Amino acid sequence: MSQVLEALIRQVDQRQEELVQLASQLIRYKTPAPPARNTEEAQQFITQFLELHGFTVDQWEVYPGDPNVVGIKLGQASDQFKSLILNGHVDVAEVSADEPWDTSPFEPIVKDGVLIGRGASDMKGGLAGALFAIQLLDEAGIKLPGDLMFQSVIGEEVGEAGTLQCCKRGYQADFAVVVDTSDLHIQGQGGVITGWITVKSKKTFHDATRKNMIHAGGGILGASAIEKMMKLLQGLQELERHWAVMKSYPGFAPGTNTINPAVIEGGRHAAFIADECRLWITVHFYPNETYESVCRDIEEHLNRVAQADPWLRENPPQYEWGGSSMIEDRGEIFPSLEVDPNHPAVQLLGSAHETILGQSAVVDVSPSVTDGGWFGDAGIPAAIYGPGDLKNAHAVNEQVSIEQLVQFTKVMLKFIYEWGHTAK
Ligand SMILES: [Zn+2]
Repeated sequence: MSQVLEALIRQVDQRQEELVQLASQLIRYKTPAPPARNTEEAQQFITQFLELHGFTVDQWEVYPGDPNVVGIKLGQASDQFKSLILNGHVDVAEVSADEPWDTSPFEPIVKDGVLIGRGASDMKGGLAGALFAIQLLDEAGIKLPGDLMFQSVIGEEVGEAGTLQCCKRGYQADFAVVVDTSDLHIQGQGGVITGWITVKSKKTFHDATRKNMIHAGGGILGASAIEKMMKLLQGLQELERHWAVMKSYPGFAPGTNTINPAVIEGGRHAAFIADECRLWITVHFYPNETYESVCRDIEEHLNRVAQADPWLRENPPQYEWGGSSMIEDRGEIFPSLEVDPNHPAVQLLGSAHETILGQSAVVDVSPSVTDGGWFGDAGIPAAIYGPGDLKNAHAVNEQVSIEQLVQFTKVMLKFIYEWGHTAK
C-alpha cells in the first residue's frame, strides 16, 4: 500500500470521534419516510459538506421538501481513469410513537461500542463513512485522476427511487457502490415489483340478480368480481409454486421468489353484485430476472386462467405494474442487481476489504432490496457494500458497531483512491 494511503488509513483511527460525530449529525436530521418530505435540511448539510471538499453540487427537488443531491469532483484525467459513484439514501425507516426505544431515535448515543439511533445501520452510518473518506482524501490534498460522484438520494424507504432520478438525469460512471446496509458483504440483490390486478365487470347488477347468474336457466352472463378474483388468486399460487420448484439462485433459499397477495379491495355495497375487485401483489424475483419478464410471466399465466373461464374471457383481468411511490401512487419497483465477482471494481473492493479486515470479503446477495438495482437497470456495474446489518435496519434501538463503521471508512478510502487511479 502506498505511504499516502497508509497515513490516511491511520487517520481514520485517530479521528474516529469525528466520524462518529458526523454519523450522529446525520441521524439528528429527522428524515423518516413515511411521512417523507423532510430531507431538505439534511441534504443542505450534505451539499455544504461536499462543496467544502471541492465538489460541484447539483441539487434538485424530486418531491417538495425532498431534494436529491449529486456532488461531482472531476478527475485530473477523467477520460483516462475510472469514474465512481458513491450512492446512499438519506431517508430512514419510519418510527412509530409506541416503539420502545431506550433513547430518542433522533438523539443518537454511543454505548458499549455502538452508535444507536434511527438510520445508524440503514444508512446514515454508510453515508457518514463515505463522506468522511471523501473529507480525508480532500484534506490530504489528494486529487484523483478519475471522476468521483457522491449521490445522496431521497425516497428509498417508500419506493420513490431518488436513485432512478439520478440515472434519468444522466449521471453515470464506470462503477457504483451503494453504501447501504450489508454488514460489509459485497452484495447483489433480487428485485421487487408491486402490481395491481383488476377484475371488472362491464355491467353492474343488483344483488337480487345473483340467482340468474349462478343457477340453471338464469340466463345472465354475470359474475361477482370477488369470486372471479379467487380464480386468479389460485392461478397466482400455482405460478408461485412453479417458480419455487423451477427457479433458484445461489445465496437465496429456494422459494424466495414469492407472489404475495398483499391487499384486496372489492365490491361497492351489499345490495350489489361486486362489479370490481382489485388485488395488490408484491412480486419477489431473482437477480438474473428482470421486472419486465416476471410481469410478463404473470400476465401470460393469468390470461390463460381467464381464457378457461367463460365470464373472465369476456371480462379479462387488467394489470398495472410498479409505480413511483408507495405513498403517492401505491406502487414501487426495485430492479434486481447481479454482481459480477470478476469485475475489476468488485475485485478491487474485495482486496481493499481483505487488506483492512484481514479476511476475504464475502460476495453474496442481500435478502432485502436497495437502490442498487437502479444502477443495474441503467447498465452501470454496481454493488452494495455498507456497514450495519439488516437485523438492525428499521429496528427499535437501531445501531451500528463503531468498529465496523471505522473498517468501512478505511475500505472506502482505499477503494476510492485505488479505483480513481485505475486506467480506463
Ligand atoms: Zn437502506
